[in-house]
Amino acid sequence: MNQSSQNTPKPPLINASEKEPIVIFTGAGVSAESGLLTFRDMGGIWNQYDVTEVASPLAWRRQPELVLQFYNERREKVIAASPNAAHYAIAQLEEKFDVTVITQNVDDLHERAGSSKVLHLHGEIRKVRSTLDSKLIYKWPEAHLNLGQLCEKGSQLRPHIVWFGEQVFSLHEAAQLFSSAQKVLVVGTSLVVQPAASLLDYAPFEAEKILINPELQQSSFHNYSFMQGNACEILPRLASQWLNV
Ligand code: NAD
Repeated sequence: MNQSSQNTPKPPLINASEKEPIVIFTGAGVSAESGLLTFRDMGGIWNQYDVTEVASPLAWRRQPELVLQFYNERREKVIAASPNAAHYAIAQLEEKFDVTVITQNVDDLHERAGSSKVLHLHGEIRKVRSTLDSKLIYKWPEAHLNLGQLCEKGSQLRPHIVWFGEQVFSLHEAAQLFSSAQKVLVVGTSLVVQPAASLLDYAPFEAEKILINPELQQSSFHNYSFMQGNACEILPRLASQWLNV
């Protein structure tokens, strides 16, 4: 090493773990402006289907064709959709923050926008899994999954989705991430699905906590400040502020 390199101060290396940890908790509303229906808004999916007939273990036992058809339609729409300005703004925040997206969504629009850490509490529609061994999970690039398509152990494949009555994925990890976050953004969720909605309570009192939704009232979540509006309007603006650009 020569004299000049010894005396030149080196800029500190910033790795992901030294960045401020933030959690972005998303629901169907963040994908609404990509053309994917929300569940409970007017015209939402549950107005068109009876949930017990398509999204439960009982439905799968009684009418697997109907269940597969329902998810094949959803998968077609997800494949045809593209990430929107809100998904991209969330991904951009990784330039400065250690961002974890915790999503109730089953689409892959956060990943396609560039988010690198995404926890899917309710499963992923572009994956399927074995009905014999739940650890056998496969990426599924095609739009359709049909009866007769089997895992490597010879059992029928099913959508990698958490159905009503089944256990949510990664809940403990999600609670830990909430409890160590310094900023929490909650975007596009009605907060009616449990236990996912109760994660909001794990955020530290002193963290900066913001709820973004065109409809919810601030009074219901007194611990969070409320920004009323669509995700695609608010998130790019907020991301620019936080990134100082
Ligand atoms: P929800 O349908 O109950 O609530 C959607 C929320 O988004 C509403 O509060 C609505 O006011 C808000 N919203 C609508 N348009 C918005 C916009 N442009 N910007 C911001 N917010 C907007 O959905 P949820 O709370 O996510 O819970 C229900 C379930 O829906 C979840 O379990 C999830 O798995 C499932 N779901 C997922 C998808 C998807 O993967 N894209 C689509 C539909 C439903």
